[in-house]
Amino acid sequence: MTARFPPNHPLYIAFTEKDLCTRCGTCVGVCPNGALSLDKDNYPEIDLDNCVQCGLCAKVCAGGSVNFAELSEITFGHKEATIDFDDHFLQSTIGYATDEKLRTGGASGGVVSALLWNMQKEGTIDGCIVTRMSRENPCRGELYIAKGYDEIRQSQQSKYVVIPVNSLLAKLRNLTGRYAIVALPCQVHGLRLL
Ligand SMILES: Cc1cc2nc3c(=O)[nH]c(=O)nc-3n(C[C@H](O)[C@H](O)[C@H](O)COP(=O)(O)OP(=O)(O)OC[C@H]3O[C@@H](n4cnc5c(N)ncnc54)[C@H](O)[C@@H]3O)c2cc1C
Repeated sequence: MTARFPPNHPLYIAFTEKDLCTRCGTCVGVCPNGALSLDKDNYPEIDLDNCVQCGLCAKVCAGGSVNFAELSEITFGHKEATIDFDDHFLQSTIGYATDEKLRTGGASGGVVSALLWNMQKEGTIDGCIVTRMSRENPCRGELYIAKGYDEIRQSQQSKYVVIPVNSLLAKLRNLTGRYAIVALPCQVHGLRLL
């Protein structure tokens, strides 16, 4: 039986409230039993027959809350950050990819893709979790694991659509190797909780 988390279910968590769900996909990515999937709008759905009630999805939910003091400590080494993070940064740097194709193909100079390509070339990682617009449905974004220069280039540019990046964690469980992930702040929050 597929359903949204019903209010009386033990796993009723913040993202049952649609407004709080960031659609990061972390819950789907961590579910050990494949009981969670995404609906057409990328909100999680649960197959209650397959749910073993391990509670992992609830623990990693990025929509539940953000502990700003803890986040500040992890990021800046102190607990003083305000809720909006204004004026708190470690270092400000301007840069661009020296590879001409990565530079001109990028959203803002291609630094993200150049870092990924450099890590792959040097063998630090085996692949990268990135996004592109779907060929079948150009209005939708899709996730994939990029390996090699050309596949990294396909991921360039910002896609202003929701792409539940962390749902790919489910696939990663069956792979060996080290992978980089390019993720937005809410998605990184889910990864930190994980
Ligand atoms: C939804 C969104 C909002 C943004 N808002 C701001 C902003 O307000 N201010 C600001 O300074 N910068 C913002 N950015 C970041 C900026 O647009 C560039 O993505 C960033 O500067 C990196 O540029 P680049 O040339 O190095 O990346 P590129 O080399 O072009 O690589 C882009 C990377 O971003 C990833 N990506 C693209 N779209 C998504 C997505 N929807 N979800 C997850 N990953 C994605 C791709 O997989 C790829 O790895 C935003 C990005 C996105 C995706």
